Amino acid sequence: MGDAASWIERDAASVWHGFTQMSCYADNRPVVVERAEGRELIDVEGNRYLDAISSLWVTTLGHRVPELDDAVRAQLDRVAHSTMLGNGNRVVIELAEALAPRVPVEDPRFLFASDGAAAVEQALKIAFQFWTNQGVTDRTSYLAFGGAYHGDTVGSLAVGDGGFGTDVFDPLRFPVVRAPGLNEPGAVDAAVALLREHGSRLAAVVLEPLVQGAAGMALHDPEAVAAIAEAAAAEGVLVIHDEVATGFGRTGTLFATEQCGTRPDLLVLGKGITGGYLPMSATVASRRVWDAFLGPDLSERTFYHGHSYSGNALAAAVALRHLELFDEWDVLSNVAARAAQLDDALTRRIAPLPQVLEVRQRGLMVGIELDPPAEGLRWGRRASAGCVDRGVLVRPLGDVVVLMPPLTTTAEEIDRIVDAVEASIGDLDR
Ligand SMILES: *Cc1c(COP(=O)(O)O)cnc(C)c1O
Repeated sequence: MGDAASWIERDAASVWHGFTQMSCYADNRPVVVERAEGRELIDVEGNRYLDAISSLWVTTLGHRVPELDDAVRAQLDRVAHSTMLGNGNRVVIELAEALAPRVPVEDPRFLFASDGAAAVEQALKIAFQFWTNQGVTDRTSYLAFGGAYHGDTVGSLAVGDGGFGTDVFDPLRFPVVRAPGLNEPGAVDAAVALLREHGSRLAAVVLEPLVQGAAGMALHDPEAVAAIAEAAAAEGVLVIHDEVATGFGRTGTLFATEQCGTRPDLLVLGKGITGGYLPMSATVASRRVWDAFLGPDLSERTFYHGHSYSGNALAAAVALRHLELFDEWDVLSNVAARAAQLDDALTRRIAPLPQVLEVRQRGLMVGIELDPPAEGLRWGRRASAGCVDRGVLVRPLGDVVVLMPPLTTTAEEIDRIVDAVEASIGDLDR
């Protein structure tokens, strides 16, 4: 226990927070978490906040899940970490074997990393070398989409579409072929046309299936993903699905790709893979992609890329137990029930508010786009602050209030979230 003001002061004096202007960090009344119980975070003064953004989209089953805690503890008694470079680790093998029949990738192979962005980088580099290993040297570009977000390393920034203040890095971004956002009218036709026009110089097309999360939960149909897969296949272009946000049950199925009826050549996983416990991500390659990298020992066909903490054993242990709990607890049934409840409540109580432009939802991913009468009113931030005051932790994307409750959230918690959102948006005067 302590007093929040002094912790915030110490925080601002020594910690640099991402995507945060530190000169006014303390003025925006940040929550300094000390511990958690279930789906509630508890701050240094003992105040409780329902974690309605799943700690930036990573928490799936809740915090301090006894079964997940036990999995970490049990692995600690074996080994915390050993390198994947040239050697193996038992629990990592077990995790890959457990994931293999569940991922929508043909005869999959798993290259682990720690963050989503790093796994995107791996996918981009694998796609590039897939071609050079076969003597094709002119497939050096990528097709990416408007509104795309793939992470903050330089390569993932390049396939991402900017915004959020990242335009300053434009000179560092390598050029890509940019199609309109998949939520825009005519987007599929435009993407297919670009694939036909530039196909022979594209290594891969990279997309977020069904929901472009960071674009403010921009939605598109499964048919759009299928049409792009078909056009890419016709041009021989590899398909990369970035399911860092949509993976592990968020959209109602274990992976959003399942709803599209396609199988990408490369699949990128992150965020929910460990239930939100430990940093882990994975680049999943199909057999066809993998085969292009096989050759003599020390040959140039090898993928010369790796991270120190790739395949961390503690993370693998918790990821493995997490995957089992998905089935044991029938988590997807709860996602379906709570998503329907949330849809109903948002339609009745939030969408009609004069301050709201549009509500977008797929599974337990929601974006409530506000409609401020002028620029610079910071409605997204003010509505979110109102929710935090009411004990519901949310964080906006611009003027889009994002709701991303844990997948085990209860009916009562959904009511609590919608109550807080309704009151907070109601406080914004038009
Ligand atoms: C969060 C996110 C990333 C980046 O993952 P990090 O772990 O933050 O590096 C990449 N792609 C998508 C779709 C994401 O939502």
